[in-house]
Amino acid sequence: MQCELCGRTCDCKAATVDGVMMMLCPNCIRHGEVIPTPKAPEKTQKPILDRIKKPPVKDIYKDMNKELVTGWNEIIKKAREKKGLTREELGFKIGERTVTIQKIENGDLRPSDKMIEKLEKELGINLIEEITEASTTIGSTRTGSRLTLGDFIKSK
Ligand SMILES: [Zn+2]
Repeated sequence: MQCELCGRTCDCKAATVDGVMMMLCPNCIRHGEVIPTPKAPEKTQKPILDRIKKPPVKDIYKDMNKELVTGWNEIIKKAREKKGLTREELGFKIGERTVTIQKIENGDLRPSDKMIEKLEKELGINLIEEITEASTTIGSTRTGSRLTLGDFIKSK
């Protein structure tokens, strides 16, 4: 870019000289008033980025390895008893037959994802655990000599 005042080729900046906008080199810029570059475009871009980012996050959540917690049938049974509900009452609340509740509590029947959701909501319990890489790392390093569990926590 060329300075409109001295004609030098340099990294010119926009400035006003007597109200006229010109491109000036660092040497001539003191003759004019520097026009501050508007920062507005940055602000409008951010929400768009957030909107684009959201759907992939949902997909990752869907693909996550989910497993029923250990002793889920016992958890369901205890939570139901704590609420003072009979198997009939719980079955009625989540739209399942009493025999189904009985089978679930005995561990004979694995509840479907929809049933799990209803049971969690109705009993205020958590029946799903996510199998993440972090949990397997802790498990494998606990027995290893290179890194202890304490080191893992400290480094985090
Ligand atoms: Zn100049």
